[in-house]
Amino acid sequence: MSTPREAPYPFDVVTLFEPLMSAYLGGSILGRAAERGIIEVSYTDPRDFTHDVHRTVDDGPFGGGAGMVMMPEPLASAIESVHARRAPARPRVILLGPAGRVFDQRVAAEYAALPGGICLVCGRYEGIDERIAEHMVDEELSIGDYVLTGGELGAMVVIDAVSRLLPGVLGNAEGAHDESFTGTPLLEHPQYTRPREWRGHTVPDVLLSGHHAAIDRWRQDQRVARTRARRPDLYARWERSRDEEEGAG
Ligand code: SAM
Repeated sequence: MSTPREAPYPFDVVTLFEPLMSAYLGGSILGRAAERGIIEVSYTDPRDFTHDVHRTVDDGPFGGGAGMVMMPEPLASAIESVHARRAPARPRVILLGPAGRVFDQRVAAEYAALPGGICLVCGRYEGIDERIAEHMVDEELSIGDYVLTGGELGAMVVIDAVSRLLPGVLGNAEGAHDESFTGTPLLEHPQYTRPREWRGHTVPDVLLSGHHAAIDRWRQDQRVARTRARRPDLYARWERSRDEEEGAG
């Protein structure tokens, strides 16, 4: 886990739909993290950088085709205003889109360690003018191989996953320790709570034994078995890293 930051981790979001996001990010664990000054989420609306009475941010695509494309100038001005507000810090500018590198826990950890935070740019409609991707952003990021109606869900996924890696966000410091993808590529072991027997289904005996070493061993075996059965790709990665460690040791 990284060392505590002196200032809140800055998340900037360029979006036409702030209310969709603030409703989610203002509640629960993330809302408390903001109140306690561990994260700060700021929104910038490209419509605030338009100059016509309709506050137009989109237009039809050159070359024809269905739908509308977000125009470059309002987006560029919105991103520049984020840089001006955050200077001398320089947030990494990330455009949400299906053509980007795919987000996972390793990318979340990479972002959590960025001193200048991140600025997430959300597309809408059929997408954004390609010149923004080419000239105004540091990278494109996808949250999976499917198409959403807008980047806001992706931005919330990123903010959620990054925030819970920041010191102090989770109440219990151990909270994220054994989770799936954390530390090793393995999935988490199964969890049980009261009652011991539920509708005829019992809890594994070892968890009631009080033998911590045996419980740890059982949990590790479960993590390995589950990962091998459900995610052969992660299992192969885990085997490789284990072999490398053994080779180094
Ligand atoms: N026409 C685009 C295409 O086929 O790649 C899809 C545009 S999508 C309808 C509108 C916006 O949603 C995108 O600009 C992007 O910001 C966001 N979006 C859609 N799918 C996404 C994904 N898998 N990951 C991240 N953002 C996504």
